[in-house]
Amino acid sequence: MPSALAVETRRFASRNPATGEVLREFDCAATEQVQAAVARAHGAQAAWWDRGVQHRRQILLQFQRLLHERKSEVARLVTQEAGKPYAESLVAELMVVLDAARFCCQTAKAFLQPQPVPHGNLIMKAKSGVLLREPHGVIGIISPWNYPFSTPASETLAALVTGNAVVLKPSELTPLVALKLEELLHTAGVPRDIFQVVIGDGATGSALVDSAVDKIVFTGSVSTGRRIAQAAAPRFLPLVLELGGKDPTIVLEDADLDTASSGVVWGAFMNAGQTCLSIERCYVHRSVHDRFVEACVVKARRLRVGNGSDPETEIGPMIHERQLQTVEAHVADALAKGARLLCGGTRLPELGPNFYAPTVLTEVTHAMRIMTEETFGPVLPIMPFDIEGEAIHLANSSDYGLAASVWTSNPARGKATARRLRAGTVMVNDSISAFAISEAPHGGPRNSGIGRTHGRLGMEEMVRVKYVDSDRIPAMKKLWWYGYGSAFSAQMEGFLDFLFARGLVTRLRGGMRSLGAVRRKSQI
Ligand code: NAD
Repeated sequence: MPSALAVETRRFASRNPATGEVLREFDCAATEQVQAAVARAHGAQAAWWDRGVQHRRQILLQFQRLLHERKSEVARLVTQEAGKPYAESLVAELMVVLDAARFCCQTAKAFLQPQPVPHGNLIMKAKSGVLLREPHGVIGIISPWNYPFSTPASETLAALVTGNAVVLKPSELTPLVALKLEELLHTAGVPRDIFQVVIGDGATGSALVDSAVDKIVFTGSVSTGRRIAQAAAPRFLPLVLELGGKDPTIVLEDADLDTASSGVVWGAFMNAGQTCLSIERCYVHRSVHDRFVEACVVKARRLRVGNGSDPETEIGPMIHERQLQTVEAHVADALAKGARLLCGGTRLPELGPNFYAPTVLTEVTHAMRIMTEETFGPVLPIMPFDIEGEAIHLANSSDYGLAASVWTSNPARGKATARRLRAGTVMVNDSISAFAISEAPHGGPRNSGIGRTHGRLGMEEMVRVKYVDSDRIPAMKKLWWYGYGSAFSAQMEGFLDFLFARGLVTRLRGGMRSLGAVRRKSQI
């Protein structure tokens, strides 16, 4: 059996959200078990780093091969435990991880090479500088349920290839997917102590934060992120926090309405709206508003809702009752404040316990929760605007800043609009899919968190940098060492003139004045 750690106290069940069926019961790992896992990881990490990047790349490639061979099995499990349609498990989970392995293998060697740092200041030219990137040691990864495979796996691969050990605490709603990741990594050759999974709830996650990990990479809600930041603060434990979003989309008047409505419907409803990058609010130019809304309603009504394991399904269940209640509360608040419901707005109990119909709302305002708080469900609220500046202002009026999108038939205009949006990622004529670009950094400012995952910036989070400054002339006493006095001060004034004065003559005079510093007798 994989390293799911057992303890007598707290138990929970992993369930299929489409049916409510219990898939397996688990005991939460206790604090001591989490600490023991971290201690084992520390014990093994130095050897993993010493084996070198080439060795680690080979293992990641083996993992990629294995995952590709077993893609259907893994995707089926993701659908079973997280509810999403099988096609989304393949594309948004498996493909993301297969390509993250490709990215890590291609980039890690050059990334970990010592990086020479040329010195610009003349006085520092006799020194050579080099930047080293070294692993933190043990990275604690805490992950959510909505991308139970791609989120922890892409972070894990970046951590492993850069020489860290990883202890993963997956969501209590999707432990089986995490155990599958563990099985695949171990089979591919990752030593057992270098990648471990500790199963449990929030208290188990909290124990991981309090353990001897060297860094935490957390993906989840703002409230949990805030608790983790507070727990980490006393010992300055470094953190990456990938938190929530309330992503806006702007449909400009020159957009292709058929494409834009298809893209917005997909961006709002894929994974039943339970994506940190989901479109959660839509601003449409008034001149095309009615036609755009009509197209969205027609397309939303056409979506096939059902069990994700049916290949025809386009929208699966939501993850659990609590998430449905949030969606219902946001929709009820909007309707009470004057919003208009054009489709959906109800549960679909005939399909199973957690189904909610794709919902389109208009006549919404920023006084409604549906436009300001993360809904995390299949709801698309649409609001008109008159001028682009107003749309940008509305889009930027948010506590979040994860991502945004713009729809226009003019790519140059789209890029110009993108520059004015305050978000970590802006997509022009698409949404969500930047998450699947392994080179693209993922993360955003304000309540959306701290730091980045994915891409080179995500890899930077997995290492600490060390600067090595080495003098090329070991026997030379440095100019700035002791031996101060009025003559030395004058020489240094001259030297500053030599380096920074505006006129050539002043600079040359300064250079002459400074020469004596090199030969000064007073230096000790
Ligand atoms: P959550 O915060 O409830 O749980 C996330 C993880 O944290 C789980 O593993 C949970 O057990 C653990 N946890 C809970 N309390 C903890 C504590 N005190 N200390 C340590 N760990 C603790 O979030 P969720 O409901 O699983 O996920 C949904 C949220 O995640 C949404 O807000 C979504 O926007 C966000 N999310 C963000 C990204 C991103 O990349 N920015 C990606 C996916 C999901």
